[in-house]
Amino acid sequence: MAASTFCDHCGMALYSDDVYCVGCGNPTNPAPGNEAQRRPERRSTRVVLALKTGSHGFLTACVRCGGEVLPGDAYCQLCGARLPRDV
Ligand SMILES: [Zn+2]
Ligand SMILES: [Zn+2]
Repeated sequence: MAASTFCDHCGMALYSDDVYCVGCGNPTNPAPGNEAQRRPERRSTRVVLALKTGSHGFLTACVRCGGEVLPGDAYCQLCGARLPRDV
């Protein structure tokens, strides 16, 4: 669950399944073969983490890929789409 790398563009902590930085949208550089190891279940870890840190109504879906995104995410970690900020 711990972040393993940090964005070299903005310093945001990145998770191993993040394809794009959630802070700036910069593409991450997964190790060769990492793509095949990405599993949707990994996203559940982030959701669980969010459920523990928030109270209600904070989960949204990416407008492009429909992936789950967290309220602090400026960009989708799956497709890099810019996320609207409504707070
Ligand atoms: Zn970044
Ligand atoms: Zn997306």
